Amino acid sequence: MKKRSKDLLTKAGDYQAEIKELAKSPYTIMEVCGTHTVTIAKNAIRELLPNTVRLISGPGCPVCVTDSSDIDRYLYLAAQPKVITATFGDMIRVPGTDKSLQVLRAEGADVRIVYSTQDALELAHRNPDKEVVFLGVGFETTIPTVAVSLEIAKREGIKNYSVLSMHKVVPPVLKLLAEDDQLAVNAFLHPGHVCSIIGIEPIEFMAKDYGLPGAVTGFDALDILEGIVMLLRQREEARSDIEIQYQRVVKAAGNPKAKNFIERVFEPVDASWRGIGLIPQSGLGMREEYSLWDAARKFSLPTFNSPETPGCRCGDVLRGLIYPTQCPLFAKHCTPMKPIGPCMVSTEGSCAAYHRYSQRSVD
Ligand code: SF4
Repeated sequence: MKKRSKDLLTKAGDYQAEIKELAKSPYTIMEVCGTHTVTIAKNAIRELLPNTVRLISGPGCPVCVTDSSDIDRYLYLAAQPKVITATFGDMIRVPGTDKSLQVLRAEGADVRIVYSTQDALELAHRNPDKEVVFLGVGFETTIPTVAVSLEIAKREGIKNYSVLSMHKVVPPVLKLLAEDDQLAVNAFLHPGHVCSIIGIEPIEFMAKDYGLPGAVTGFDALDILEGIVMLLRQREEARSDIEIQYQRVVKAAGNPKAKNFIERVFEPVDASWRGIGLIPQSGLGMREEYSLWDAARKFSLPTFNSPETPGCRCGDVLRGLIYPTQCPLFAKHCTPMKPIGPCMVSTEGSCAAYHRYSQRSVD
């Protein structure tokens, strides 16, 4: 075995031993981020932990938390003549009330998968007689790149590019979780990518006001194990702090330049989260100066009041109230090939991660 692999295994063994020693009584940790959920499932981290330590997934998959009404809204827009919908690949199969972008595309709508907002801007350059609409779905991690694309469009006078902003920010949903009487969580693994932008000040209230310790954690298996150790040590020492495990990327102050990009283009608005409902100031709308590039205003989009997908319990999964395996449709009627809800579609969705890597019941 190569030395590096051996070192990593030794380190994982050390963390596992420390977790076992510290986990004297039940402790439930929510991993907020969808990428954490995937790492945990892929590396069978739940199976490595003692029975006293439970990991439960949270609302950190941006595709999964996009409300049914927002999905129907962008499907309505994608069906309009002369519109090119530019989207990241995860959105294409998410079912709306009647259809998905994939179905619309088969029916003739112009839907393109892009890998960056730069791709979407180039589409606009190449198609001056069409309107290119980028679907803005994501958290603080990806929002700065969208803001930059809008600044470029404004500066260069690119008038056939716009963004439908369905962006969400993480601190307000954390507050809602902290105040949720139904949720029995002792501590949080916070999302490393989001905190690399916002820093830790906006989430420190979780520890200070609600006594919920947190570890801002990276995305490989050792990061997760170390994050769990850090949280258990806090319990042992009767502390409640927000600590940074992912120090190779996250600074306490975040990334001031990226925050500045967001603030110049976007402003906080109330937003609906799938299965959770309206959370004040948890979304980002575009500032008045960018109204010409705001797809909602540019196309005078109607609002929708769409029902949740019948039988789908994505909302309960996203609030950490159930494991995906506790949804009666999981793996029976709902699979990655025939998904019923977005949590089974997105690569970061909890249901997809559980289905792909582990169907073992975790009740
Ligand atoms: Fe929704 Fe399917 Fe997950 Fe059940 S298994 S919560 S139906 S996405």
